[in-house]
Amino acid sequence: MNMNLKQTWNQHVVKKENKSLVLDTIKKSAPISRATIATETGLNKGTVSSLVSDLINDHLIYESGPGESSGGRRPVMLLFNEEAGYSIGIDIGVNYLLGVLTDLNGNIHQEKIITFNHLSYEKIEQKLFEVIDFLINSAPKSPYGIIGIGVGVPGTVDKNGNILLAPNLDWKNINLKATLESKYNLPTIIENEANAGAYGEKKFGIGKEFTNIVYVSAGIGIGVGLILNGSLYKGNQGFSGELGHMTIEVDGKKCRCGNEGCWELYASEQALIHKAEQSGIPLPTNGEYALNNLLMLAENGNEEAIKLFEEIGDYLGVGINNIINIFNPQQVIIGNRIATSQKWIEKSLHQRLNQALWFQRNDLQVNFSELSTLSTALGVAAFSIENFLNMNIQQRNAAL
Ligand SMILES: [Zn+2]
Repeated sequence: MNMNLKQTWNQHVVKKENKSLVLDTIKKSAPISRATIATETGLNKGTVSSLVSDLINDHLIYESGPGESSGGRRPVMLLFNEEAGYSIGIDIGVNYLLGVLTDLNGNIHQEKIITFNHLSYEKIEQKLFEVIDFLINSAPKSPYGIIGIGVGVPGTVDKNGNILLAPNLDWKNINLKATLESKYNLPTIIENEANAGAYGEKKFGIGKEFTNIVYVSAGIGIGVGLILNGSLYKGNQGFSGELGHMTIEVDGKKCRCGNEGCWELYASEQALIHKAEQSGIPLPTNGEYALNNLLMLAENGNEEAIKLFEEIGDYLGVGINNIINIFNPQQVIIGNRIATSQKWIEKSLHQRLNQALWFQRNDLQVNFSELSTLSTALGVAAFSIENFLNMNIQQRNAAL
């Protein structure tokens, strides 16, 4: 690279970084004036003015009426245009499909859920198209329209978005990213549901104020998403967090993953339903309603149902103690469908957690997800939004 080219390239990179910085500052502190942006970012006023003009032309921010001023002319305030585009987030569960349409701040504008039982990949794909079509059609008019699709799946996803294995769906080597990109011509992100859920909690949920989070997604299976030092940790190839398959019982039950005694066979929604069946508790055949049914029984004082929930809470605690010893987190979030049974599993869970090394419990917060079943869909929607904002700034800069 000769000196001139290098200099141009450097200017290009610096401009891109400054523009992102200005946009992030507006997103974080809006309504905000140009002068305050300059103070907060340390950029000079001329640079801020020019970048703000760019962002207004991009429809990513807009000017509102004057804000507070200590005297003299009141400054014009800037706001992030959260309705410049819309993001689609989909959570594919083992027996449901949940889709949300959000604006660029993650506010939900439309939501759709479909439940099913034991469907082939082709049938689920069909339902997925239906949900996406519905969400696309319900998006309000906006400068950018739909900016991307994010999909969370209960399985292992490699860096290229290939689903290597989703054992509870019986999926192997599925390139859903390519399928969706060719059908909708939109940037598509496929992510493990627990990673996406952890991110959703960090961005919009109960994890907002924390930087080291263990998110335990307990649905039909169990996955764990890790936020370490404020960022999503995915491991070398994206395969971290497969903790539902850590062994908690040597020579235990045989798991679909090939191992024995996996945690998710003892502490998941599926484990709860199996135990209920074994105890002869009558349950509806559609798995989606079995958990609700058990919750209703517990609510009505059915001692057997209450005991089953307590066992699940205890086993959840066993696995979480192991994880706490590895990561020493600030916060553990119990999410996904099991979070709806907080009332019945909380006590036995805490009893088990109290057996952890005492110093691990200093400053440790254990929370149940408030987003509950929405964390994954919101997390993947957020990935698309960030991808869009980064790409947008990059492309528009390159065109200059
Ligand atoms: Zn397993």
